[in-house]
Amino acid sequence: MAKKQFKAESKRLLEMMINSIYTQKEIFLRELISNASDAIDKIYYKALTDEQLVFDKEQYFIKITPDKSSRTLTISDTGIGMTKEELENNLGVIAKSGSLAFKQENEAKDGHNIIGQFGVGFYSAFMVADVVTVRSKALGSEEAFQWESKGADGYTVKACEKETVGTDIILKIKENTEDEQYDEFLDQYRLKAIIKKYSDFIRYPIKMDITGKRPKEGEDNEFEDYTEEQVVNSMIPIWRKNKSELTDEDYENFYNEKHYGFDKPLAHIHVSADGAAVYQAILFIPENTPFDYYTKEYEKGLELYSNGVLIMNKCADLLPDYFSFVKGMVDSEDLSLNISREMLQHDRQLKLIAKNIKNKIKGQLQSMLKDDREKYEKFFASFGRQLKFGVYNEFGANKDDLQDLLLFTSSKEKKLVTLDEYVTGMPEEQKYIYYAAGESIERLEKLPQTEMVADKGYEILYFTEDIDEFAIKMIGKYKDKEFRNVSSGDLGIEDAESKETDAEKNENKDLFEAMQGILGGKVKEVRASKRLKTHPVCLSTEGEVTIEMEKILKAMPN
Ligand code: ADP
Ligand code: MG
Repeated sequence: MAKKQFKAESKRLLEMMINSIYTQKEIFLRELISNASDAIDKIYYKALTDEQLVFDKEQYFIKITPDKSSRTLTISDTGIGMTKEELENNLGVIAKSGSLAFKQENEAKDGHNIIGQFGVGFYSAFMVADVVTVRSKALGSEEAFQWESKGADGYTVKACEKETVGTDIILKIKENTEDEQYDEFLDQYRLKAIIKKYSDFIRYPIKMDITGKRPKEGEDNEFEDYTEEQVVNSMIPIWRKNKSELTDEDYENFYNEKHYGFDKPLAHIHVSADGAAVYQAILFIPENTPFDYYTKEYEKGLELYSNGVLIMNKCADLLPDYFSFVKGMVDSEDLSLNISREMLQHDRQLKLIAKNIKNKIKGQLQSMLKDDREKYEKFFASFGRQLKFGVYNEFGANKDDLQDLLLFTSSKEKKLVTLDEYVTGMPEEQKYIYYAAGESIERLEKLPQTEMVADKGYEILYFTEDIDEFAIKMIGKYKDKEFRNVSSGDLGIEDAESKETDAEKNENKDLFEAMQGILGGKVKEVRASKRLKTHPVCLSTEGEVTIEMEKILKAMPN
């Protein structure tokens, strides 16, 4: 029988695949199980409209069978199967013409590998197998066919014997080489672990015959072999369960199981969205700052599932940078594993979900701030700095979303206050929101400049983090009130009595000039001031950039 060639494009893509486009070989199993599950879905959907067809759940399952002696791994399903034509069309041609172009385009754009993200499914089998044999009998057909391929050079199709409707995919697992191990894909426990990891939530049972030894009944020190058919996957994802059925502990277990963190989450958000974007999500706000959080090494992202199948470990597009601390997962039926389908649509869908998620997180933080201040302050101690960066970055584009989530230490009782609380507490005549910036609260309290403002009974916000003043400059005004550094030249509270008269200004003119001479170019002017109470001298600035900001700007790498 003549060997048919893969279409040229398929061949190229196949070669790229085999040259490990996927970072982990083990995902081939996820892909094949997902195809098997899709095939059962197809019968399920058919049964919904076809009265002749009854979907009896018991009959539908996926079975994984490793065989060390023949070095094969078989993935069987009782799904819809493939006709001869379907075997040729679906397995002989990779995707449609768009996929390769799409990949190239995307690689050029951000170096990202979209195929690795969405899978080209079936072909990933060649990462672990020398030969792939597909034996399939389509629903409603009397004949079965066998498709076989050794990789990039083509495939054969012939008639074969198969009793039941469905598909068997038989992988001839590669031999170990010096660099690569393949034996693990014949090991029942390893396979079980891979299934648990990627396919736990597949809706149909994934069965395996697990073999082992057990003590023989009635006999001491004697063991017998046994084989037990097990269902490896749990089938019901926690995110599909009803919130009312779940306890905080369930969510905490999930958080730990998923290795989102070693701490306990401060809060969780369980979303079941039915609107323009249909998806479920479980999101966590961790309690502690991950050790690498404020470094370049930290990678944000949520796990992305397509209909119960994990397709991406860290989907960065789902989270804005300022909420990069959020952990969790999103499952959407609208996202497909199939890269050959409308990718643009995926993107749009993903954007919609991302926007939705952003608002959920914001809402959760807002209500935490309102209802559980203590918890919120814990959160803010871990991640508040990131929110301030969020206000500052992107030229303040996100400040409206974030400014009400900020907390600053106030000079009054050294409590943390929101900007809203500050402004609400302002006496009527107070013109500005005052702040002092410096290394520590202790130092700021001793700052001569704070005296006059504090004397007036006005509250001062203490800024002790580099980012504080930059973030506030980006906010500009809060509820129509401008921010003023207490060391700025114009505090807006100089009344008649505190204004220096011309006579006073000129009184010690010679002395001031001499002082300025000694200080050289370090100060612009030395003059008398009524702003000082108990301190003999203070530094003050004019214009936008304050002393603290100047220090930070100077320390920044260019
Ligand atoms: P995708 O699943 O994204 O469509 P794949 O490369 O994983 O892409 O599979 C290609 C096609 O082959 C599927 O769309 C399906 O039509 C067919 N197919 C693969 N595996 C099976 C199976 N077990 N049963 C029925 N059809 C299958
Ligand atoms: Mg697939």
